Amino acid sequence: MKIKLCLLFGGKSAEHEVSLQTAKAVIKALDLTKFDIDPVFITKDGEWRKGASLSAPVEDVKELQFGQQSEVSPAEAMTNVPAAPGATYDIVFPLLHGPNGEDGTVQGLLEVLNVPYVGNGVLASSAGMDKVIMKNLFRDAGLPQVNYTSFIRSAWEQDREVSYLKTEEEIGYPCFIKPANLGSSVGISKCTNRAELEAGFEEAFQFDRKIVIEQGVKAREIELGVIGNDFPEVSVPGEIVAKKDFYDYKSKYVDGDSVMVIPAELSEGLTEELQRMAKKAFQTVDCSGLVRADFFVTEDNQIFINEINTMPGFTPYSMFPLLWENTGVAYAELIEKLVQFGIGRYQEKQ
Ligand code: ATP
Ligand code: MG
Ligand code: MG
Ligand code: MG
Repeated sequence: MKIKLCLLFGGKSAEHEVSLQTAKAVIKALDLTKFDIDPVFITKDGEWRKGASLSAPVEDVKELQFGQQSEVSPAEAMTNVPAAPGATYDIVFPLLHGPNGEDGTVQGLLEVLNVPYVGNGVLASSAGMDKVIMKNLFRDAGLPQVNYTSFIRSAWEQDREVSYLKTEEEIGYPCFIKPANLGSSVGISKCTNRAELEAGFEEAFQFDRKIVIEQGVKAREIELGVIGNDFPEVSVPGEIVAKKDFYDYKSKYVDGDSVMVIPAELSEGLTEELQRMAKKAFQTVDCSGLVRADFFVTEDNQIFINEINTMPGFTPYSMFPLLWENTGVAYAELIEKLVQFGIGRYQEKQ
């Protein structure tokens, strides 16, 4: 029996284009003798459009940007109901990043519809999307982090000076200001003085009503992949060597001027410690399916966890799949494993 899979991609997010590229790569990797794939494109405006079942890989992402006539409701798209009454998918694969995709909202809809899906559930997705909640959970679990504080927009608007003074007192310079609920470094600033701090608050509050401010560290950036459900497996560590001051949006997607070193050159002891912490982070946020855990490692080998990403970049050239390839799990096999973890998690709940 073929596995009926619904692939969700695009989305109302800054990472819309990345998602389309990823969808194309995932379709190419899936064995069409084992999978029936129904593609669902979410436009930048948030409209859901469903394409015909795929019988061959697509050559160009344009083939995945279906026209208006294929518009369906989210529930119809994910249950396959209009095509065949009562039919549901074996698995839905939400290849979406950022708000409305990676944050538990789509996952909640899938729970209500009672359809199995790839990746993290509602709680892990939403807790992982909100950097303040995530950091509070890591703190409770005893995972080492840099100092941080957070503000909501209304408090800042009431008395900006108090917010700045509190930040300078508790965090100091350099610091990083981030919108609480984003990814891809969107809205993030590094601040080394009061003027930059004020500009950084303004910038981050354009993207979110809540921001987090962290102590800046001079450190190597190491990332690890975790997959599984109750018994997660951890990949080898990889390092991002950014040529810029920090790994910002431009160096991620525009210039591509950062290099990945996999496996990262680290002692056996540090590697094991990072793998232990990555697994602990996965379990702390009650993750399932997959996570990429991002760390800082300082010159004197201190480790700090930076964040987890519950739907990490997933093109064949992204860190997460490359980490697994270097751990012995090729791209196509990784996708099949994620599908099986999704089905397994659903069955366990029943
Ligand atoms: P993504 O989800 O794409 O990994 P993000 O938007 O969630 O990114 P972070 O990973 O938190 O953002 O930060 C982006 C980058 O900013 C980091 O990769 C790092 O280069 C730099 N950075 C963030 N926080 C700090 C910090 N406390 N000290 C030093 N550098 C930092
Ligand atoms: Mg992130
Ligand atoms: Mg992200
Ligand atoms: Mg990151």
